[in-house]
Amino acid sequence: MKVYKFGGASVRSADGVRNLCDIVRDEPGPLFVVVSAMGKTTNALEGVLERFMAGDRKGALEAFARVERNHAEILAGLFPERVPVEVSDAVETLYREVREILSGEEPRETDYDRWYDRIVSFGELISTTIVSAYLRHAGVSNRWIDMRRCFVTSTRHRDANINLSLSAPLLKRAVSGAEGRVFVGQGFIGSTAAGEPTTLGREGSDYSAAVVANLLDAESLSIWKDVEGILNADPKIFSDTVHIPELTYLDAIELAYSGAQIIHPKTIKPLQNKNIPLYVRPFSDKRKPGSVIRGEMTGRIEAPILIFKPNQVLLSIRPKDFSFVIEERMVDIFSLLEQYHIHTNLIQSSAVNLSICVDASRQLKQVVERLQSEFRVVYNSDMELLTIRGYTAPLYEKYAESSNAYLIQKTRKMVRIVRRTFPWHPKMNIY
Ligand code: ASP
Ligand code: MG
Repeated sequence: MKVYKFGGASVRSADGVRNLCDIVRDEPGPLFVVVSAMGKTTNALEGVLERFMAGDRKGALEAFARVERNHAEILAGLFPERVPVEVSDAVETLYREVREILSGEEPRETDYDRWYDRIVSFGELISTTIVSAYLRHAGVSNRWIDMRRCFVTSTRHRDANINLSLSAPLLKRAVSGAEGRVFVGQGFIGSTAAGEPTTLGREGSDYSAAVVANLLDAESLSIWKDVEGILNADPKIFSDTVHIPELTYLDAIELAYSGAQIIHPKTIKPLQNKNIPLYVRPFSDKRKPGSVIRGEMTGRIEAPILIFKPNQVLLSIRPKDFSFVIEERMVDIFSLLEQYHIHTNLIQSSAVNLSICVDASRQLKQVVERLQSEFRVVYNSDMELLTIRGYTAPLYEKYAESSNAYLIQKTRKMVRIVRRTFPWHPKMNIY
């Protein structure tokens, strides 16, 4: 078994779906294809949810009608003669389910994450329904897999983890008795043991694909992307990026957590556990090798790697009086962050001060308010975290010794800089 994952950008248009079909057709199988929501559908569904949560049902339905129209356009491109009835019926059934949710029960703000999962999970259900139907129409027989019935997850809505041992028999049963065939399943979604839909965190389809690979003992996972493979920095920002042909699992985890957009951070562990190589391949040209992530390297990484993590907040926390040192209260502070699902990206502490760089999130205000009962909290928003792996003296000078750097941490291999968000002019040079 091989596993292929196609992200939203690869299936954002009829041409994209046709290209997916060409790539899948070339593979003798068995092949498990994991697909994300099409294009910007997830963002659009988040917009639907915002309106719904705000009590604006009409606005929510209108926003959802735009989602329907986007898919209708792709369907029209894929089936220019006429969309087969069974296909339009299948997507219409999904649309109707969403409209029913949007016209049903009154949501409560405290259930925000649960409503998120109920609504936003439809992006992947719709995309896979279309992809599976198109593949069949193009002569690639396949089985549509409902991942809500295969992945049993934790109840941590909007950022759920997959329970591997409970999911294994379900997924294996879903693919049984169909040797040599193609399977099409949704990324990003699962459900709790009680059957409530969950999502795995934004960009979580990579993680879904990695778990499929793990549970089915796949020989490899390929993630098809709109990039050449792994580069040493974001080509949207820098003009002098270079290609990195291979990385170890360890490097990849480090980079993913630092904010590299190549793969979701949760992707690596399920692969590493079974030593399954991960290929990152360019969707636009299947002959190109891309990059590979695996246990052992055959060469070394020559270029420095630069990663920006935007939307950061730097919190500086100290006791109001000095009746205790910060160390004694560390556990409470981090439990509070964990309780609100806020990701910490960098920590620095002294006797009386704790600085933490966290992802900006809608819950942060509540956390700060709760901390303020005991601590003096200084709050710098509009920050970014820059990580440079394999930095050199000139790079250090350029990025760390600038006036907008608020906090710097440095080891022999890596420097991490919390700095005020810099107005990037696209196409700058790394050096
Ligand atoms: N569709 C989801 C998102 O946009 C999951 C994914 O693309 O991996 O975040
Ligand atoms: Mg995506």
